[in-house]
Amino acid sequence: MAEEIRRCEDAGVDWIHFDVMDGHFVEQLTYGEPVLKRVRGITDKPLDVHLMVDNPDRQARFFAEAGADIIDIHIESPCDIGACLKHIRELGKSPALAVKPNTPIEDAFAYLPLCDMVLVMTVEPGYGGQGFIAEMLEKVKKLRGYADENGFPSLDIQVDGGVNEKTGADAKKAGANVLVAGTGLFKADDMKAVNAALKGTL
Ligand code: ZN
Repeated sequence: MAEEIRRCEDAGVDWIHFDVMDGHFVEQLTYGEPVLKRVRGITDKPLDVHLMVDNPDRQARFFAEAGADIIDIHIESPCDIGACLKHIRELGKSPALAVKPNTPIEDAFAYLPLCDMVLVMTVEPGYGGQGFIAEMLEKVKKLRGYADENGFPSLDIQVDGGVNEKTGADAKKAGANVLVAGTGLFKADDMKAVNAALKGTL
């Protein structure tokens, strides 16, 4: 993992996105805060921690202590979402709200005063390597429009899932400004070139 992170740094990525799955909110299980702590020890890049868990209200504190900079919680998690976003802010971290493909983006609007970023999932959370769901671009567009019209011009909109050079460009056109790429980067022959293409600096 350290080697891959070094590769990302050399390729010029801005953040490291860390997918946490608890085996409940999604069936899969990944890693927890001990691993994040190790990652914190080997990179100065901002760590963007995507919590796909049932109880982000209880988990956020552990990931904040382990070195997260941004903490993304799911609007579908069965807990008090507003209170959880406030709690993340109180911990001195940047709160973000994630939305699964089947959840209407309008559900997120009420939380914009409490978060710095909305993460629009462009695949079902769980597995890497899935195809980008093109209909999600509509959600991005709607969200960017709403944010601009309602006093949130600096809202970050992140897309996560199936991002490659083509879908990344489409997402940016729709209003996204943060792209998460997994397979698209790690399986590329030239990670640096793909990263530059995603950023539009190639
Ligand atoms: Zn993610």
